[in-house]
Amino acid sequence: AVPLVVAKSTALSAKNGLLIKNRTAFENARKITTIVFDKTGTLTVGKFEVSKIVTLQKEVTENEIIRLSSALEQKSEHPIATGILQKAKELSIKIPETKNFNAITGKGVEATIEGKKIAVVSPGYLKENSIALPEGFTANDTETIVFVIVNNQLAGYIALSDEIRPESAEAIRILKKNNIKSILLTGDNNKVAKSVSETLGMDSFIAEVLPHQKLEKIKELQSKGEFVAMTGDGVNDAPALAIADVGIAVGSGSDIAAETAGIVLVNSNPTDIVSLILFGKATYRKMI
Ligand code: ADP
Ligand code: MG
Repeated sequence: AVPLVVAKSTALSAKNGLLIKNRTAFENARKITTIVFDKTGTLTVGKFEVSKIVTLQKEVTENEIIRLSSALEQKSEHPIATGILQKAKELSIKIPETKNFNAITGKGVEATIEGKKIAVVSPGYLKENSIALPEGFTANDTETIVFVIVNNQLAGYIALSDEIRPESAEAIRILKKNNIKSILLTGDNNKVAKSVSETLGMDSFIAEVLPHQKLEKIKELQSKGEFVAMTGDGVNDAPALAIADVGIAVGSGSDIAAETAGIVLVNSNPTDIVSLILFGKATYRKMI
């Protein structure tokens, strides 16, 4: 039987934006020593807007960069995709058909359009494939960049910006006060990760991580004796959510993340995680 205090607390949590799917997760919440946060949609709003379109080839227009990339992004559920599709809509672009679509996990998307091989990818992908960054390339600290590659040639790039959630700083501050470390783990670029982590006063950040590296990082922290919670939203995050001591899926994310996690953050609000921990502590204190 579920002890009454726990049953009451679980119901209360639902009111506070938390869906507790698994009682062990709730029991464990009070033991958390480190929270590993994903960035997009948890600490940030998760709404990307195109802030810049840059073409790197004479024959390629800015509209063409959006036309090609939006065709690929139509098949993706990443928040970046939503931002690019919004831009295509604003520019009234007719989106072409794609063939052989493939999502390159944690790096981008690729497909064939009108006989050409198109890829929309992260800066990390360029590095790995020894494609040089454009001359004089700069991005500011808050821009997420995706590069558009046409037949293995860099054709241009798109800068997108997202905003930090107003509640995030408060959440990190209270965690710190309770001696809980916060780490940012993201597939996004180093500059953005550093900027978000420093703005929020987090303990550390790791950028350009691939999904399997997320899992390894959780294991590494656990082997150092940390009791680890992890937040995630994507299909990519499911393995790491499963292995964390407390897996927290962000409500706006994928169904697979929500299925794997013990707790769902219904309103995607990071301060609800703080409530969860303090709440867990109070609940079990009452029982002892
Ligand atoms: P996170 O969830 O931490 O933002 P992801 O693993 O989802 O990280 O993505 C990492 C990076 O891969 C993104 O910042 C982007 O550069 C690239 N990427 C992933 N999916 C897409 C996509 N659909 N379109 C373009 N780039 C993508
Ligand atoms: Mg993600």
